[in-house]
Amino acid sequence: MKKTLVCGAGGFIAGHLVKKLKREGYWVRGADIKEHEFAPTQADEFFRLDLREEENCQTALTLPKGTFDEVYQLAADMGGMGFIHSAECDIMRNSALINIHMTHNAKKQQVPRYFFSSSVCVYRDMKHGEPEMTEAEAIPANPDNEYGWEKLYAERMAMAYERNKGMKVRIARFQNCYGPEGTWRGGREKAPAALCRKVAEARDGGTIEVWGDGTAVRSYTYIDDMVEGIYMLMQSDLQGPVNIGCPQYVTVDELANVVTEVSGKKITFRHVDGPVGVQSRNFSNERIYSIGWKSKFNLKQGIALTYPWVEKQVKKNRSS
Ligand code: NAD
Repeated sequence: MKKTLVCGAGGFIAGHLVKKLKREGYWVRGADIKEHEFAPTQADEFFRLDLREEENCQTALTLPKGTFDEVYQLAADMGGMGFIHSAECDIMRNSALINIHMTHNAKKQQVPRYFFSSSVCVYRDMKHGEPEMTEAEAIPANPDNEYGWEKLYAERMAMAYERNKGMKVRIARFQNCYGPEGTWRGGREKAPAALCRKVAEARDGGTIEVWGDGTAVRSYTYIDDMVEGIYMLMQSDLQGPVNIGCPQYVTVDELANVVTEVSGKKITFRHVDGPVGVQSRNFSNERIYSIGWKSKFNLKQGIALTYPWVEKQVKKNRSS
C-alpha cells in the first residue's frame, strides 16, 4: 500500500484530496495547524502541527519505517482577495517558511515524489479578450499580489530541488477552486463561497453587495475536477508548472447570476468598492489536457452542488 503525506489536510482542497487518495487505496497521513472545520478527516492519521517550524515538518515526514511514496504540499496561509490584500506579511512569511522547510526535508527524507500547490496568481493582470497565456509566460513576472510572488518563489525552489537534488516535483497552478466544505465566511472565503453566503442570507427580492464593478473575468473549477487534476498530474511525467482550470470564463456578475439562479431567489446586486484583484484571466490548459484531464463540471453544475451546502451552513449558524 502506497503511503502519502497530505499537508494542509485541515483545509478545503487537501481535505477533499485525502478522500480521493483513500478511494485510490493509499495509506494517508494528514498534517495541518488545525483540524478540518466542516468534515472529520478521512486520513488514517492526522498530525496537528505548525509546519512553519522545521522540526514539525520533520515529524510530519517521519514514518516508523521507510519513507512516504508521495507528499502533497497544500498548506498555506490562504484566503480570498480580501485576505490576500490585507495580510501580505503573513502570507510572505508563513507560506514561505512552510515551503522552505517542507521541500528541503522531503528531499532529506528521500521522498521520491513531491507535489506543490501553486496558483494562477503568479501571472500578471490581463486585458479582456487577450489570447491564452501559457505556463512559460509567467516569466518575466509581475504578479498582482504578494501571494503570487510567494508562490513563484516556492515553485522555483521546488524546481531547483528537482534539478539539483533529484526529487521528482509536480507543480499545479490552480485556477479559483470552489465546492462544499470550503471556507464560506470569516474573511478568508473566495468569491463563489462569499456570493453563495450572501444570497443564502438574503431574502427573496433582496439586495446583496458585490465587490467591484462586476466585470472582472475569472474561471472557477469545481473541487472534484481539481482533485482529479492534482492526482493525475502527480502520477504523470509532466515537469514544471501546469495550469489546472475549467475553460469557462465568466464575469463576477455572471457568477452572481448563476448563484441567484440556483438559489431560486430574485436578488439585486449593489456594486461596492472592494479588493477585486486582476481584471481578466485566460490560461492555456494544453499541458494538463495532454495527460487526459478535462474538467467535467461547468459553473452551473458546480454551483448547484455548492450553494445547498453553504445555505445549510447559513441556516445552521442562524439556529445556533
Ligand atoms: P485552505 O485555507 O482551506 O487550506 C490551507 C490549509 O493550510 C489550512 O487548513 C490551514 O490551516 C493550513 N495551514 C496554514 N498555515 C499552516 C501552518 N503554519 N502549518 C500547518 N498548516 C497550515 O486553502 P485551500 O483553498 O484548500 O488551498 C490549498 C492550496 O491550494 C494552497 O496552497 C493555496 O494557496 C492553493 N490554491 C488554492 C486556490 C483556491 O481557489 N482555493 C487557488 C489557487 C491556489
